[in-house]
Amino acid sequence: MQKKCSRCGNDMEIVLRNVVYKKRVKIMNVPVHVCVDDCCAHSQVVDVIKDDLKSLMEELGQHPQRQAIEFEELSELSNLLVLIANEKADSSVREVLGERVNELLDLFLLAQSLGDQKWMLELRERLTKIMV
Ligand SMILES: [Zn+2]
Repeated sequence: MQKKCSRCGNDMEIVLRNVVYKKRVKIMNVPVHVCVDDCCAHSQVVDVIKDDLKSLMEELGQHPQRQAIEFEELSELSNLLVLIANEKADSSVREVLGERVNELLDLFLLAQSLGDQKWMLELRERLTKIMV
């Protein structure tokens, strides 16, 4: 049950993007789902990190100072995805971690579609502790 594009139905893959908040704050390495179809290129922030991103934006407020923030230092899941995306990491480690994360993200989407808050929390926990 890989995530499908809500516009065209193609598969989506996770990439790390820089997000600009209020034109002043550059938030780096935010995990985003991007449609594999180049013509569509629909993108959305990965569901499981939405809460982390939201609390960061709340913290920054409406009139933030000009700055750059490395999101992976605030979000363990982002940190994990950066590690997987990092070409220098051992490829077999990346593969295993990537599979594990995809599995948990799939379950998270399922829990979300069922509206099962408790399960969603539990999966977030498991995702952030995947490195340990
Ligand atoms: Zn699409």
